[in-house]
Amino acid sequence: MSLLNPQSSVVIVGAGLAGWRLAEGLRQEGFNGRVTLVGDEPYQPYDRPPLSKQVLVGKWDLDRATLVREDSTVSGSVEWRLGRRAVALDVEQKVVTLDDESRLDATHVAIATGARARRLTLSAGDLVHTIRARDDLAKLLADLESADVTRPWVVIGAGFLGAEVATALRTRDVAVIALEVANAPLEGVVGVPAAQWLRRLPDDFGVDLRTNQQVRDVRGSAGRFVVELDDGENIEAAGVVACVGSTLELGWLESSGLRVDGGVVVDEHLQAATDVAALGDVARFAWPGPVGEELIRVEHWEVANFHAAQLARFWTRGVGPERNLVPYFWSDQYGKKIQMLGHPRPDDEVTLVHGDLASAKWLALYTRHDVVTGLLALSSPRALMTSKVLLDQVTSRDDAFALAPWNA
Ligand SMILES: Cc1cc2nc3c(=O)[nH]c(=O)nc-3n(C[C@H](O)[C@H](O)[C@H](O)COP(=O)(O)OP(=O)(O)OC[C@H]3O[C@@H](n4cnc5c(N)ncnc54)[C@H](O)[C@@H]3O)c2cc1C
Repeated sequence: MSLLNPQSSVVIVGAGLAGWRLAEGLRQEGFNGRVTLVGDEPYQPYDRPPLSKQVLVGKWDLDRATLVREDSTVSGSVEWRLGRRAVALDVEQKVVTLDDESRLDATHVAIATGARARRLTLSAGDLVHTIRARDDLAKLLADLESADVTRPWVVIGAGFLGAEVATALRTRDVAVIALEVANAPLEGVVGVPAAQWLRRLPDDFGVDLRTNQQVRDVRGSAGRFVVELDDGENIEAAGVVACVGSTLELGWLESSGLRVDGGVVVDEHLQAATDVAALGDVARFAWPGPVGEELIRVEHWEVANFHAAQLARFWTRGVGPERNLVPYFWSDQYGKKIQMLGHPRPDDEVTLVHGDLASAKWLALYTRHDVVTGLLALSSPRALMTSKVLLDQVTSRDDAFALAPWNA
């Protein structure tokens, strides 16, 4: 690895949260060489969490989600290549080729290309909405304005994003049917018991959640859709939003020789090759978890921020992060806040340690082999944060209960 010096030049591919924070981080660390930000969207970096929350509800306009503040000095100090897609990377020569055939030479390349919304193959094609980018929101908001208010909207997939979309639509007074393929939403993330504890939230919020539902097709035209289920039922809808996870678009790295396996595989310093790094949603990184090192990829806002600061330090000073990464995620759904710390697996043992189900305020502790692996909170931010100490270092289940930091 070569440390950055004033003659170095950094090309950052992906002008989203991680890419922008890296540019900011490099300047904060004192790097004053050339930084180029390449982004295939025509917009300066913006924040995605508000898209499915404040923007979809109608509280914020899209411009408010920008990450580039008017007084940003970093913005003027970087070269922008917006509306341009990277199509190839030469790892040896550190050359990034763009879709207009221009070539960007660098000494260091950062891959921060995030993820894309997964699309289902349906007869109604692109008329079925997905939510990932500004343009997706603009289309969805326009359709909502002109929609037949007597028909419901159908949300396919009731995971974190689907739940937020259902919540926002319901808040706009739209009738919502949410279709979930599993027995309960989020089973594959929080595990079966916790998914059951969360099960009544949509009902209480007035969202018609239907579980064990497989969508066969969606047909129709703008404003008039029929959602066909595998069991033969047809649902008429004014609009359909598919929230069925994400995919990675990494074809442009095929000839690069980088290891791509469920993400761009990087080491504990986010390096994929010498002076080539990946960060944010796209990175599958070596994480020193409580039960040993794991290769993980997580689509969390906090992790993208952490990675950017970590990489800026490493490339400028050759040092690792100040503290260990404890992955953190939040979601605002059905009038509640769900927060998760750590990286538990759905089959880890889970115990309710604070609060109770009736009040819909509680904290759950995850353990694997008697070691604490995660915390899940429902509208209990204080208990979650006082319990973070259990993940800052390896903690046994017995020690966690002896300490009971959730009572602090
Ligand atoms: C609607 C929504 C709500 C969310 N809510 C939450 C939340 O409540 N809590 C939470 O923790 N996380 C949330 N997230 C996740 C969080 O926003 C992401 O983890 C974060 O955006 C990741 O940042 P990133 O820079 O890695 O990727 P992105 O933000 O996706 O940025 C990547 C950028 O790279 C561009 N790009 C891709 N390929 C190329 C290419 N070849 N050439 C040039 N540019 C390219 C993309 O178009 C994009 O602009 C949410 C995400 C979405 C979509």
